[in-house]
Amino acid sequence: MPEPTTDVLIIGAGPAGLALATELTMRGVSVQVIEQNERVGIQPRAKTTNVRTMEHMRRWGLAARVRSLSPVDEAVPRRVRFATSLFGGDIKVFDNALYFDRRRDERYSESAEWIPQYVVEKVLLDHVSAHPLAKVDFRCKLMEFSHDAGGVRALVHDARNAQTIHLRARYLVGADGGRSTVRDGLGFKMEGESSIASFVTLILKIPGLLRDPDLKPAIMHWLVDPECPCIMGQMDRDDTWFWGPTPRPGVKIDDAWLQEKVRHSIENRYDVSVLAKDSWTAHKLLANCYRNGNVFLVGDACHLHPPFGGHGMNFGVGDSVDLGWKLAACLQGWGGPELLDSYELERRPVHRRVLDSSTENMASLSDQFAAPELKENSARGVEARARAAAAIDKAKTPEFRSLGLVLGYSYASSPIVASEALAPPAESVTEYRPCGYPGTLAPHCWLPDGRSLYDLFGSGFTLLAMRETTPDERKTVQTIAAQQKVPLELASVPDTRLHDLYGAPFALIRPDQHIAWRGDQIGSLAGILRMARGARPLN
Ligand SMILES: Cc1cc2nc3c(=O)[nH]c(=O)nc-3n(C[C@H](O)[C@H](O)[C@H](O)COP(=O)(O)OP(=O)(O)OC[C@H]3O[C@@H](n4cnc5c(N)ncnc54)[C@H](O)[C@@H]3O)c2cc1C
Repeated sequence: MPEPTTDVLIIGAGPAGLALATELTMRGVSVQVIEQNERVGIQPRAKTTNVRTMEHMRRWGLAARVRSLSPVDEAVPRRVRFATSLFGGDIKVFDNALYFDRRRDERYSESAEWIPQYVVEKVLLDHVSAHPLAKVDFRCKLMEFSHDAGGVRALVHDARNAQTIHLRARYLVGADGGRSTVRDGLGFKMEGESSIASFVTLILKIPGLLRDPDLKPAIMHWLVDPECPCIMGQMDRDDTWFWGPTPRPGVKIDDAWLQEKVRHSIENRYDVSVLAKDSWTAHKLLANCYRNGNVFLVGDACHLHPPFGGHGMNFGVGDSVDLGWKLAACLQGWGGPELLDSYELERRPVHRRVLDSSTENMASLSDQFAAPELKENSARGVEARARAAAAIDKAKTPEFRSLGLVLGYSYASSPIVASEALAPPAESVTEYRPCGYPGTLAPHCWLPDGRSLYDLFGSGFTLLAMRETTPDERKTVQTIAAQQKVPLELASVPDTRLHDLYGAPFALIRPDQHIAWRGDQIGSLAGILRMARGARPLN
């Protein structure tokens, strides 16, 4: 095969592909991104950029940019309301829903952000396009590819000039969504349940609604209205809204029905125009394999789940972070033979949890809580609202308080993570219990000088010392890094609080901020580092 023209060829300029391009270029790897469409649209799809994705944005230097483009005024409480009306009738309110409150929390370095997916993509695209190591080509479609140990060769149709071109790269990554050409080309299959439910989302212009004095401030309104259960939310500061009905099964939805119900939801107060209609189907699917040789799948190309809980884009970004540092390590010569296999081994169990949780979230939508007497001004109405509040609290807490899922997943059984005698802590969707068990995300804290602990971590491995280190220890770290030609830094934070949190005076933090190992002394650091970069088992 002729010499590659780029290190990594990425198919798809969605959030997973652009996140991978960002992670790789940050690590000095050249990328070419191929996207068949212009990828512009006003369907927001994702609105939740979660805490973990925002932490990656911080690593990439993009968090402030994302926040500056928020469509929601600072004064609007980051809450999700379940109510009978936009203008009152609150039943249950989730404050600080999905951790959108812009306040410091000891458990993470960035709060989540409510922002349309197309805005997040634009931030990533601007960043990647401006990078000298990146090339992004729109209106170019991958047709077919071949691969062997030397690299990959791709046949691409370039619609800009109606030409077919050949591209070569060391690695190929299919970030090409639910209908992945790369997945099909590898002969992999999606397994699970397809087309579990179908939905319609309308994008609406409703001039005046945002300034209605009766409008209850929130980022999302779940209208538990017996006549039209639905979800609504603000998309910009200019009266653009999304609106999605969640009617009882069997209701026939056509354009006339949609228009009538939209007008009902806003109580006929304003004119409405429909900017776009997005019909989508929920699946619960996982690819049977994520890798063959130099070819990988990330994002929706290997896991598709209902959007309730806001996980698809975010976990696609997480895939790209996990794969990104490993590809960079192999391209730079310090990644061992086991490193790339660990990608699927680490991500697949995480995807299974997300699949289960988001399907569970979809099982309870507004229609299920919308008892006919909810709006009654009577004792029956009071009782019905109390019953609905309790049911919503039970069913929807895992959707809006999912920090355990977002930060609490672990790679404890990964071959590049040290094992410990005691079993890893149990995982929970709602509760995030930071701990130093290898495989988990490094517990976060704010330092006395106001910095995030994560800001001390290097882009490679970091040996975190929670006591003063000796000159010998510092020398050891330097020598091991030089001998193994691995980016390894030492961060010393003598703090008993941190020692207690991590359960040891030393922890080896991976480039993705997960813990590879913890221990009392660093005598065996050389072997540990070999294991953590996939070069040799620990023992
Ligand atoms: C209503 C709704 C709400 C959602 N809300 C959230 C949320 O709040 N939070 C969240 O995290 N997720 C949410 N999601 C999920 C999220 O939209 C997806 O998970 C996300 O878009 C997946 O990103 P991706 O980059 O993997 O794939 P995609 O976004 O599908 O991008 C794949 C790209 O690959 C391109 N492509 C495909 N084949 C080729 C080819 N052969 N050659 C070149 N290019 C190709 C496509 O054109 C496309 O642009 C929601 C989804 C829906 C439907």
